[in-house]
Amino acid sequence: MNHEFDAISRLFRQRVPFQHAFTTLGNGDDASAHDIPEGFEFVISTDTAVESIHWPNDTPLDIAASRAVLAALSDLAAMGAEPAWVWLAVMAKDTAALESMSQGIVRVCHEHQLELAGGDTVRSPTNALNVTVGGLVPKGLTMQRSLAQNNDEIWLMGELGLSAAGLMQWQTNHKTGCFVHHFQKPTPQLKAGITLRKMGIQCCLDVSDGLLQDASHISKASQVAMCFETEKIQKIASYQQLQAIHGSHALELILHGGEDYALLFTATQDKHQQLLAIGAYPLGYCKQGHEVKLMSHGEEVKFKHQGYDHFA
Ligand code: ADP
Ligand code: MG
Repeated sequence: MNHEFDAISRLFRQRVPFQHAFTTLGNGDDASAHDIPEGFEFVISTDTAVESIHWPNDTPLDIAASRAVLAALSDLAAMGAEPAWVWLAVMAKDTAALESMSQGIVRVCHEHQLELAGGDTVRSPTNALNVTVGGLVPKGLTMQRSLAQNNDEIWLMGELGLSAAGLMQWQTNHKTGCFVHHFQKPTPQLKAGITLRKMGIQCCLDVSDGLLQDASHISKASQVAMCFETEKIQKIASYQQLQAIHGSHALELILHGGEDYALLFTATQDKHQQLLAIGAYPLGYCKQGHEVKLMSHGEEVKFKHQGYDHFA
């Protein structure tokens, strides 16, 4: 008996039974193969999560692993893709770690009916995962960072700051704190991403490193200035929740918190009512220029440029 193949089969392959209609060769060979019909774009994204960098090392490993997959799926949401496949590289310190991580992975694959199309399993001095996800978008409709236009409005689907507040609670020994689950179980906005794409939204990204830092990616790629209005940001539901506990730090958590996995997008003004109706928050507007600006009562206010930077 080979322990490695046996473990891969028992922990991963046998426990995720889904095979997508476009898969011609599934898990178990040297690679998977997929026949994508005319009319679709194949959208792929990869993400890595490392113990003590991406999750505190006292986080249960099944939760850490499910988080890694959910975070990867958020990238598909940002493209407006229908998720279909996961390829998974697991780096585990020992068999117990491998078993725990597999539980989290299998759970998310079932929740979202994803095919676990392949992977790699290795022993490693540090627990870590690399998650590649694949999905489908009708041809020509992937949402992109570079398609914001002058005079577009800026919108948000989802909430901000709750994940950062949850991580703080966990790290300061409030393990059952009211925000902890937002960090441990992020919600990729997959349905919203598809709805936005169907509404004709063209420019979108998911907020992972902080609202203002991620907005700068749209601003640079689209060559527009992005103006956020504090009074609008304060209408986000999570702002009220955060303010109750964090007082004046609530705004900082919203602007720079990170790992929110909300969708930040821009839309022409004629979509305003339609977007309000699906629960999106208007946050500001795009104009000529090339910066991210924070406005309060029509005046620009300074903010610290912060957000997560792996190499700072
Ligand atoms: P190879 O040596 O050809 O790279 P492996 O022996 O590593 O393949 O893996 C055997 C099969 O199991 C492959 O099809 C691979 O994609 C799949 N696999 C390996 N690890 C995982 C995992 N953690 N989750 C899902 N599938 C996996
Ligand atoms: Mg091989």
